[in-house]
Amino acid sequence: MAKVKYYYDSDTLSYRKIELRKRDKFKRMLGFLLSSIIMGLFLMFITFQFIESPKEKTQKRELENMELNYGLINKKMSQVEQVLEGIQHRDNEIYRLYFETNPIPEEQRKAGFGGVNRYKSLEGFENSDMIIDVSKNMDILSKQLYIQSKSLDEIINLAEDKEKFASIPAIQPIRKEDLSRMASGYGWRSDPFTKARKKHNGMDFTAPTGTPIYATGNGRVKRADNTASGFGQHIEIDHGYGYKTIYAHLSKYNVKSVSRGDLIGFVGNTGRSVGPHLHYEVHKNGRPINPINFYYGNLTPEEFKEMLKTASQEGQSYD
Ligand SMILES: [Zn+2]
Repeated sequence: MAKVKYYYDSDTLSYRKIELRKRDKFKRMLGFLLSSIIMGLFLMFITFQFIESPKEKTQKRELENMELNYGLINKKMSQVEQVLEGIQHRDNEIYRLYFETNPIPEEQRKAGFGGVNRYKSLEGFENSDMIIDVSKNMDILSKQLYIQSKSLDEIINLAEDKEKFASIPAIQPIRKEDLSRMASGYGWRSDPFTKARKKHNGMDFTAPTGTPIYATGNGRVKRADNTASGFGQHIEIDHGYGYKTIYAHLSKYNVKSVSRGDLIGFVGNTGRSVGPHLHYEVHKNGRPINPINFYYGNLTPEEFKEMLKTASQEGQSYD
């Protein structure tokens, strides 16, 4: 209820009610309204400074949760990094060493990214440091993984090469000490029986009957029998990669395993042969090739030169 105000009228010597004019009333109302609004705004401002709205509360919770999760991600990443370090160590110390290739230097594996700042867009926020840290670690981890994966690709290739290297014929089938001589090379030679010129598809090594014969590369015995005309008792080994070797005119054979250097048989004079000798052939993709290029495993350059000289003499083969 509005207060009723009075004033003293000296003319009538009495108190009279103050009658506010309409304009004055309006002015007062307006003043009151304005001050209320200002006061209200001021109170709201104070309130929002210290008291959160429900929306703000939710956002704050989300932010806290996000921070927590970023922390967890960082922790997990360092665990992954530890596992990766173990793999990198094995890669350098075992795999790369075993396959005779250089280890990847630490600096190369752990190198970051130079040049432009890749994290500029993440700067300028309250949590920038944390987010940039996680992003950086993630990038370094990805790069390390990429390098590791490339290294393993390389090892797979090397492993395949190593297997191939072990399979391709690479040594003399008869020990140098046991060899009487390399009697005939590959190419056109006189047939020891008919004396006609005939392609000699292998090399003849003369040695006493019973001299051990060795597999010249890893492989699988394809046949060991006496049924191929002319070869007598002979062994055929399939080395894979298109390679095959034949050991002919044997006196005995012993074919259980075929790793390079395994004893597989003994020199003889069986089949179409003019004296105890080993007839040795190397085939590539189904065609005989000159075995002379397949002794690098145990011949010195001088010995090879000597063999090359003997093998090129177009005499008579032992067949
Ligand atoms: Zn021969």
